[in-house]
Order: sequence, then structure tokens, then C-alpha cells
Amino acid sequence: MAHIVFEQVTKQYDNGFVAVKDLNLDIGEDEFLVLVGPSGCGKTTSLRMLAGLESISSGNIYIDGKRVNELSPRERDIAMVFQSYALYPHMSVFENMAFSLQLQGTPKPDIQTRVHAAATQLGIEALLDRKPKQLSGGQRQRVAVGRAIVRDPAAFLMDEPLSNLDAKLRVQARAELSKLHKKLSTTFIYVTHDQVEAMTMGSRIAVMNQGILQQVDTPQTLYDQP
Ligand code: ADP
Ligand code: ADP
Repeated sequence: MAHIVFEQVTKQYDNGFVAVKDLNLDIGEDEFLVLVGPSGCGKTTSLRMLAGLESISSGNIYIDGKRVNELSPRERDIAMVFQSYALYPHMSVFENMAFSLQLQGTPKPDIQTRVHAAATQLGIEALLDRKPKQLSGGQRQRVAVGRAIVRDPAAFLMDEPLSNLDAKLRVQARAELSKLHKKLSTTFIYVTHDQVEAMTMGSRIAVMNQGILQQVDTPQTLYDQP
């Protein structure tokens, strides 16, 4: 669980383009916050700044009250699931899921236990020896989530994690992610350009447009307005 605060966060890229402007956002410890808005509005940039994958031009980001602006991604205890899944193609599913734990120096028996537990939870224990190219899209998506779960991070960031799935799988995967959030009761931040997805998944929805946060509200309040 992590309490996350964006305070007047701005990102201006090297070419001068301002992708995110004066972002203020306070995300609670067990929230499922959906960041929604059209392509190019600054959603991914916001997530990448929080994860430490992109520098901040001005403002501050706090995780549990600690300013993290200068911390490396690994020091932030946050896991990110990408739209492309970003699985390592030459590694098995097990190795993909174990990799970050190995980097952390987790003892081998613990790695075994944690990978198997996460795989069971996601229904992919039969796939642990396969390579990513031997998996369906839905299975790859689960492995990407599994790779995040094994780390037991304080927060999960997800950047359009379902957009490569067909419509039927996507509906199923949404329900599974909602369930997972309840079970882990930790901070989820979920990026999508899909309003239906935002409405069905978020406990709160943050609406972004052209780098500016327009509104933050519950789905009921946001979409029931006259
Ligand atoms: P979204 O995730 O909402 O689609 P992004 O955060 O990826 O939006 O991008 C926001 C804007 O910043 C877009 O106009 C994009 O083209 C621009 N952008 C992203 N990365 C860079 C970069 N490295 N340099 C310059 N502009 C960028
Ligand atoms: P997404 O699928 O999240 O919208 P994009 O396809 O927009 O991502 O961007 C892929 C990569 O290209 C990212 O690393 C982003 O930072 C970079 N990028 C996006 N737009 C620009 C841009 N206008 N100039 C330079 N780099 C960019």
C-alpha cells in the first residue's frame, strides 16, 4: 500500500513540449485510480514520472510522505505493467517472473515459493516452462501481471494493460484485475483511453486532457451528471 501525492508536477520534454502541466493528485492507499483521457494527453508520462522512468521538470512526487523525485525506480517499490507486456523473449515464464526477485537478491527458495504462489493465483502455473512466444495474448497479459505481483510492491501502475486483448478477453481481464485489487488491497493506478473501462474499474477517475487534469471524481458522480 502506498499513499501517492503529485504536487504541481510538470513535465517538459527536451524538445520544449509540455506533456504534463501542474498535476496535483492525491491517491489513497487502497485506491483503484483510473487515469483516463485521449491518446497523447500525458497519461503515460505521468505514470513514468511516478515510477522513476522519466525525470520531473518541476514539482514533487511523494510516496508515503517521502519525496521521491531523485530516487531510482528500484528505490520506489512500485511495479509497472506495460501495454506491450515487455516480457523477456529468451526467458521462460518462470524466469520472467523471477527476474526482479533475483536482482533484489531474494533467496532461491523464496523465489520458487513466490513465483508459484503468483502463478497459481493467476492460473498460469502450467505455463511456467514456456517462452512468451508460446503463449496466447491473454496468457502473456497474465504473466505481465504476475511479474508485478511477485515483487509484492507498494503500488501497481498499469498502462493500457488490456488494450492488446480482444473484446471478450478484455471484459474477463477487467473483472480479474478488479478482484485482484480487492484481494491485494493495495494501490492500483490504471491508465486507459477507454471511458467504459474507466467507469467499470475505477474507484475514482482522474480525467486528463492536453496535459491538464480536468476532474477527479467517483464514476457515479462523473458520468451521472446532467
Ligand atoms: P498518453 O499516455 O496520454 O497517450 P503520453 O504521456 O505518452 O500520452 O504523451 C504525452 C505527449 O507527450 C504526447 O503528445 C507525446 O507525443 C509527447 N511525448 C511523449 N514522449 C515524448 C518525448 N520523449 N519527447 C517529446 N514529446 C514526447
Ligand atoms: P504509448 O503507446 O504509451 O502512447 P507512444 O507510442 O506514444 O507510447 O510512445 C512510445 C515511446 O516513444 C515512448 O517512450 C515515448 O516517450 C516516446 N515518444 C512518444 N512521442 C514522442 C515524441 N513526440 N518525441 C519523442 N519521443 C516520443
